[in-house]
Amino acid sequence: MNDHYKFENTPLPYAYDALEPYIDEKTMYLHHDKHLQSYVDNLNEALKPYPKLHNMSLTQLILNPRLIPVPVRTKVINNAGGVYNHRFFFDGMTNLKTEPSKKLLGAIDAAFGSFRGFQDEFINAAMSVFGSGYAWLTKNTNGMLKIITTANQNTPLTKNLIPLLTIDVWEHAYYLKHYNKRLDYIVDWSNVINWDVVNSLYVK
Ligand code: MN
Repeated sequence: MNDHYKFENTPLPYAYDALEPYIDEKTMYLHHDKHLQSYVDNLNEALKPYPKLHNMSLTQLILNPRLIPVPVRTKVINNAGGVYNHRFFFDGMTNLKTEPSKKLLGAIDAAFGSFRGFQDEFINAAMSVFGSGYAWLTKNTNGMLKIITTANQNTPLTKNLIPLLTIDVWEHAYYLKHYNKRLDYIVDWSNVINWDVVNSLYVK
């Protein structure tokens, strides 16, 4: 798989229906094969005329906007963010039973008082996103956990934070099953978090 031009839409790490009944098959199919595919295609289209950008990774593109020619800068940043965020979101879910590690739980207690405190703060953050965006669990360079939100396809990378977990709260992520009830979607999503991924990103 290329982590540079020409970007490809990597397959989901599970079947489209794997997250049923929490997240439905049709939503997963459309979200991955249509929405994410559009970000991949638009990113490739924007990069095509600029061979100097063809060896840059997603992260490099996101972190170095000044290297991107002005006519395509916004398009590249928005779509690179779209690809990065969606991959992160999809990789952070699983149908398998996973749990936060002792080490991660210790950090969660230190930052949020308790696991319940973390859950409450994360749900509040995800509910607070006005319009389209994401809520994230991140760590800073000192390893402290922090919950943040990002608008549209912005990423935590530009805030110098290391992402561990994200929920996509764009309506396309839940509208078919949960209609306008974002809270129901967030609660359902919490059943399919891949804590193995979060645990390993935390200690990285
Ligand atoms: Mn999305």
